[in-house]
Amino acid sequence: MKRIALVAHDNRKSDLIEWVKFNKDNLLKHDLFCTGTTGSMVENALGENYRVTRLKSGPLGGDQQLGALIAEEEIDLLIFFWDPMASHPHDVDVKALLRLSVLYNIPTACNRSTADFIISSSLYGSNYKRIVKDYSTYINRSLSEV
Ligand code: PGA
Repeated sequence: MKRIALVAHDNRKSDLIEWVKFNKDNLLKHDLFCTGTTGSMVENALGENYRVTRLKSGPLGGDQQLGALIAEEEIDLLIFFWDPMASHPHDVDVKALLRLSVLYNIPTACNRSTADFIISSSLYGSNYKRIVKDYSTYINRSLSEV
């Protein structure tokens, strides 16, 4: 069972929901975490009995909540269909979320073809162990400079 985060900006929500419906049987086996509005739409797409963990809406802190979950190593996979054609009031939060997904080596899909590659990968169904860099020397260096 994987802990999968799903987020889409407004202009990308229909793309994400189409992908969720297409992969419904697969996604029902996992724990899903979503920002607020995306979460309601995903629950509708998966059916009444399935509950996702719904965070705040992205502009109200949902992206940051998701980033915190990644930092706590509570997310295995991020599907984030962000909008490449519009700027948002929470662009800095979006950047922070994507930064953490790279820092913690989380498989991240920002478009449908990448999401398709991830969900059909043989590693998806396996007990894949992400390698997370050891930043302890960075922490020690920072402390000695304070
Ligand atoms: P939403 O937030 O799911 O509440 O629309 C997504 C976002 O804008 O990051």
